[in-house]
Amino acid sequence: MNLDTFIGQKEIVFTLKKALKNPFHAYIFEGEKGLGKKLLARIFSKHILCENKSSCGVCKSCHLFDASSHPDFKIIKRQEDKKEISVESVREIIKDLSRGPIFSDRKVFVIEEGEELSTSAQNALLKTLEEPPPYAIFIITCNNIERLLPTVISRSVVLSFKRYSASEIARILSQNNLEPKDYIIKLCKGNPKITLDFYNKEVQNKRDYIFDKILQYDGAGFGLIKEFESEFEKFKNDFEFLFENIIYFLRDALLYKKTKSIELITNTDKLEKIIQFSNKHTITHIYRLLQDFMVLDRYPDANVVSENVLDMIFLKLSGG
Ligand SMILES: [Zn+2]
Repeated sequence: MNLDTFIGQKEIVFTLKKALKNPFHAYIFEGEKGLGKKLLARIFSKHILCENKSSCGVCKSCHLFDASSHPDFKIIKRQEDKKEISVESVREIIKDLSRGPIFSDRKVFVIEEGEELSTSAQNALLKTLEEPPPYAIFIITCNNIERLLPTVISRSVVLSFKRYSASEIARILSQNNLEPKDYIIKLCKGNPKITLDFYNKEVQNKRDYIFDKILQYDGAGFGLIKEFESEFEKFKNDFEFLFENIIYFLRDALLYKKTKSIELITNTDKLEKIIQFSNKHTITHIYRLLQDFMVLDRYPDANVVSENVLDMIFLKLSGG
C-alpha cells in the first residue's frame, strides 16, 4: 500500500504527499484508536526513505523497508512489561540519531502511542525537536494528544485523523476480502479497526452473549444479575463495546416498539431478538433502561473504575 492507494484521510494524505520533497522534522498523527495512524506513519516513512520518493517497491530502500530491516527506520513503542516509554528509550533514539543515516538521506523515527512517553522522556525529546539534525524525521502517533507536552506539540505538525465515511469503510472491507454489511458499517461508526474486528468470531460471540443476556432479563430477576456479575469479567477491557451494544439493542427495541416497523432497526441481523425483547417490556421501561445506559456510556474512564461501573450496571438491571 502507498499514499495513492491508502483509503480515506484525504486531507492528511494530500498534506503528506506535498511534504515528500521537503518533509517537516516532526509530525503528530493524532486521533482515536483504530483510524490508521500507525499504518499511514509506516507508509509515509517508506515514501520518504524510497530512492524515488514514491514507495516504488523496487529500489534497495523499499526492499529493506519491506523486509523490516531498513537501518534508517525505527519504531519506538512502550515495552509490554513497562508502564510508559521511558527517558532511556528516548536517549537511545538521540544517540542513534547522532550517527546519521546509513543508507538513505533521512532517518525516520516513528513513536507509536506517544501519549505513553513519560514526562521526562518528552522533555528529553524536546531538545532534539528544537534543534533536529537536518536528516531527522519524527512521526509520533497519539490516541490522546492531551497527554503530550504543549512544547512537544508546538514543535510538530499536528495531523488530526477523522472517522471514515461509509463508502470508505466499505472499500476497506472489500480490500480485506470482507463483505460490507450496512448494519456493521452503521454500528462501527467510521472506525476501520472496530469494523474489521467486528468480523471476528470472538467479537460476534461477545455480541451474541450480550444480546442473549438482555433478552433473558425480565425486569426483576436478581438471579440473572448475579450471573451477569461473574461473567461480566470478560468485558473488563471493553466496556465501550458492551455499552454500545446494549444501547443499540435497546434503541432498536424502542424504535420497534414505537413504530412496529423494522425499517429503522440497526442490528438487522438480530431482528428476532429485538422484536422478542420489545414485546416483553413496556415502552417506558425500555426508554428508562436506554437512558440509564446512555448515562453509563458517558462515564469518564470506565476501565479505571470498572468495579463501580459494574455495580451501577447491576443496579440498573435490577431496576434500581
Ligand atoms: Zn523505492
